[in-house]
This record gives sequence, structure tokens and C-alpha cells, in this order.
Amino acid sequence: MVMVPACFSESYAEARPKFCEAAAAAGGVLGSWFNPNGRGPGGERLFLDTARFGPMDAEKMLVLIAGTHGVEGHCGSGAEIAWLRDGGPAKLPADTGALLIHALNPHGFAWTRRVTEDNVDLNRNFVDHDKAYPANDGYRALADAILPAAWDEASRTETERVFQAFTQKHGAFGLQGAISGGQYSHPDGIFFGGRKPTWSNRTVRAIARQDLSRARHVAVIDFHTGLGPFGHGELICAVPPGARSFDRARAWYGDEMTSPEGGTSTSAIVVGIMTDAFSQELPDAEVTPIAIEYGTYSVPEVLNAVRADNWLHQRGDLGSALGRALKADMKERFFPAGDKWREMVWARAEQTIGWAVKGLAAG
Ligand SMILES: [Zn+2]
Repeated sequence: MVMVPACFSESYAEARPKFCEAAAAAGGVLGSWFNPNGRGPGGERLFLDTARFGPMDAEKMLVLIAGTHGVEGHCGSGAEIAWLRDGGPAKLPADTGALLIHALNPHGFAWTRRVTEDNVDLNRNFVDHDKAYPANDGYRALADAILPAAWDEASRTETERVFQAFTQKHGAFGLQGAISGGQYSHPDGIFFGGRKPTWSNRTVRAIARQDLSRARHVAVIDFHTGLGPFGHGELICAVPPGARSFDRARAWYGDEMTSPEGGTSTSAIVVGIMTDAFSQELPDAEVTPIAIEYGTYSVPEVLNAVRADNWLHQRGDLGSALGRALKADMKERFFPAGDKWREMVWARAEQTIGWAVKGLAAG
């Protein structure tokens, strides 16, 4: 019986050795990818770590990913470590391997941010950067309200007024889509998709080619937090309905699976998502990707924390009392304190991993 809350960590610096020790104890082959673009808040060097289990030429591979959105790595790291300590690798069928990716965006994890070191939302960064970027007129209209000059009562009131006017016209989900769907026009804004592939983007592609090129069936589970009811893990399949991988995901996860394009998800339709890399880098494999999205707080509370964190890094002072308060709020919105939420995370993760392994076995 695994002690679930103890599998989670309060910082990247705590999570990294905990993951590596649990992976080594479970017999994993470890790999470390150094991110040269800066350090963590304690001066620590930043690594993406991987752990591999099962036959090196396994045709079937389970892939668990933590920390695509930095701060959300508290959740994914805890789930991965719980799976390791619970004996997950030993329970895999003989023909099935597993690849765990820990801190895909180590900078964001270390600094309690969703974004990478270049202020990029990694889950909007996997577009074709040689083509014209998708337009987001809603974001343009909201950009000044999203990043005000100052973070005070007056600017909060003004932002509230602008958001309410937008909501009256386009609805609350319309507002959420304009803000969070992804934008390529404001590098100092939020949900910015970048102008080129980030370090994490290039690295996850290299990992896919190195560790998964012999696989024929790949089940990807990417851990996220911040949308939906507290502690509930929504299984989001963000490939278009009609794609073969969509039908496979539906067969594996049933009606538990939701679809942004199908209008059944709490998530807006987003472009350039990270899991697209696996089908692109593994053309001979059948890739079945989902994101597991754990609810924390309400959408306005979560979006407000993201906005505040962006303001803090663009215009504020990290060392100030306000800076520390905004950081504490950011962490809580994506990683609620207390045992209950963490126990719910693992219960749903265990169930979902079980469905993925069953799906791989079927085929
Ligand atoms: Zn996320």
C-alpha cells in the first residue's frame, strides 16, 4: 500500500531526486536531459529526467508525462512516483514497456509557472512554425486587460470590466477560449505559443525518436491541472473526432473521454499541443494520446493566478511581499494543499493507467 501524499513534492528540487530514486528502485533505466537555459530559484540546475521499463524492443509502450505545464508537474510527478512505488512497472504485461518523462518543462516546474523559460505555453508550441500562425482576435482585444501596467485594485477593476463586456458578447466559454486557446501575437502575454520550437519541444521529440522508435503501439498520458471540478481527472482527447487515434481512445476510455472539438470538454479548443509530437516523430506507430486534466479551482480563479504570475515576471518584483503572495496563490491554484486532492489524483491516475495498459493489450 503506497503512502500517496508522500509521493508528491513541494518543489522541483524535492521532486527530482524523489523521482530518480523511485525509478531506480523499481529497476528503471534513467536518462537525464540538461536544460542549459537558466537555473531554478535555489540555483539548482534544471533537468528533464526519463525512466524506462520493460524490454528495450517492446512493441507496446506506456508513456506518462509530468510537467508539460511546469507547475502542473507537482501533480504529474506525484502520480508517476506513486505508480513507481506501487510496483507499477512489475505489473506490466511481458510485451509492454513504459517510459516516464519527469519535468518536461523543468523551468516552469522550478519557478511555479505554467510556461517555459521563454514564456511559452509548451502545449501551444507544437504548431508548424514555418506556416502562418492561427489568428486569435479575441486575445488581441483583451491583451491590455490581461497584462495591465500595475497589479492593483484599479487595474483589477478595469480588467473585470473588460472581461465582463467580452463575456456579454461571447459567453464565459468564449472568454476562456480567447484567453487560453493559444496566441502567437503577444510574447509578453499568457498562453503564448512561441515563434520557434522551445528546448522542451525539441527534447521531447528527441526522446520519442530515441526511446520509442521500435514501438508499434504507444499510449500517451499527459498530466495537467487547473480545469474542472476539484480533484476530478477529466480524460481529454484533443485530436480531431474522426481521426483513428480518436476512435482508439474512445474504445479504451469510453464515455469518460471528452473532446474539445466535440464540445464535451471543460477545455477550450487549443492548437499546437505537445502530444502531437509523438505521432509526428513515430510515423510507423499507432499513438493513442490523452491528457488527464485534474480540477482545482474555478476558471476565473485559475486564470487570474496565471495572469498575476505573468504580470509578476514581466513587470513585478519576485522578491516583494506581493510577489511572494502571487507565487503562493499560483502554486495553490495548480497544486492544492492537503492530502485529499493528492489521493484523488492517484486514484484516477491508477484507473486511467489500467485502462491504457488494457487498451495496449487489446491492440
Ligand atoms: Zn496544463
